[in-house]
Amino acid sequence: MPGYEWFGKEERAQVNQVLDTGILFRYEFEKERKGIFKVREFEEEFARYCGAGHAQATTSGSTALRVALAALGIGHGDEVITQGFTFIATFEAILEAGAVPVPAEIDRTLNLDPADFERKITDRTRAVMPVHMLGAPARVREIVEIAKDRGIKVIEDTAQAVGAAIAGKKLGSFGDMGTFSFDFYKTVTCGEGGMVITDDRELWVRASEYADHGHDHNPNVHRGLEGRTILGFNYRMNELQGAVGLAQLGRLDRVLRHQKRIHDALRQTLESIDGITMRELPPEGEDSCTHVCFFLETADKAVAFQKKLGEKGVPAIYFKGNFWHYLPNWEHLLAQKTAWPGPHPFGGPLCARDMVYKSDMLPASDAILEKLVVIPVLLQTDDARIAEISGSLRAVAQEVL
Ligand SMILES: *Cc1c(COP(=O)(O)O)cnc(C)c1O
Repeated sequence: MPGYEWFGKEERAQVNQVLDTGILFRYEFEKERKGIFKVREFEEEFARYCGAGHAQATTSGSTALRVALAALGIGHGDEVITQGFTFIATFEAILEAGAVPVPAEIDRTLNLDPADFERKITDRTRAVMPVHMLGAPARVREIVEIAKDRGIKVIEDTAQAVGAAIAGKKLGSFGDMGTFSFDFYKTVTCGEGGMVITDDRELWVRASEYADHGHDHNPNVHRGLEGRTILGFNYRMNELQGAVGLAQLGRLDRVLRHQKRIHDALRQTLESIDGITMRELPPEGEDSCTHVCFFLETADKAVAFQKKLGEKGVPAIYFKGNFWHYLPNWEHLLAQKTAWPGPHPFGGPLCARDMVYKSDMLPASDAILEKLVVIPVLLQTDDARIAEISGSLRAVAQEVL
């Protein structure tokens, strides 16, 4: 799964082209760069890969979310609904925008429950952020349907599910905007990096301006003379990242095929064991197969299963207890510890209510996650290792079930 597992010749060739020019900046230097625009090329290729009209590169998946929120005009006093099971960056990006995250439950897809999203809507809800966790789709078609009727914008956090799809349509392309991460541990990595995709040209232009100090990127004038319509900030990707991203993207389909092979073999073993059920996919959902996710019948069995797998040399994750991916474990969010004195953005004159977070506010998510065990799919898993892991799964099932 992490993109660094398959890495080398293609990345080196791409990066060397940039190093030969010495131009690491994505804009300007027309003469010196000898026609090399790696970030621009990465954006174009990535948009094409996802079937989206436009793509804007950023410095990270977190800043991709921040830029998408800005492009959609979401800020102070606005409420954004998202799931409590996600990497904390989803919440942080909403807070960075000055908006307030409203947590909702997940369902057995491990992603946003459309029914709970609908229940959590208030007259301040401006956006919803389904997160396609652990490689596989949320029920995003239902979420878009609910949002559309109420004028709520949809931003898909696709940081963990590049290449996954529903009925052949890539995730990230269902909502108003979709975001991706290329950090050190994602399927496509540039070390750090992110992307925003959209079909809406105006949204893309706003995203590109916000990500570059408001520059309107007028091709007819020198950068110093470019116009500006909104204040922005610096979220620019550099040419070295763009070069690595291009090499990684070129390998993505091969990575996904390999992951699927490993994933499906382990799934077959798990499905043959009574007392284990697999994570659900929405209708026509296509998993990117970064993780094998399964449920035991009780929390006790899940805890024991994960522990015994680890003892047999198969590292597995118990996400209910994870410090960075589940709201009840974020003590600093529960205590609303911002870098500045409160109450903004959790309350204050612009907010309709004072937001309160509690460790027991997501009982349905608790009930799902407490029975969940997750095995990461590593590219280095060969047939011998698949057989070994399958053997361990059967042995642990004998002991625990
Ligand atoms: C990794 C991740 C992010 C943030 O991406 P960075 O590039 O690390 O900033 C956001 N959301 C989810 C769900 C992630 O997994």
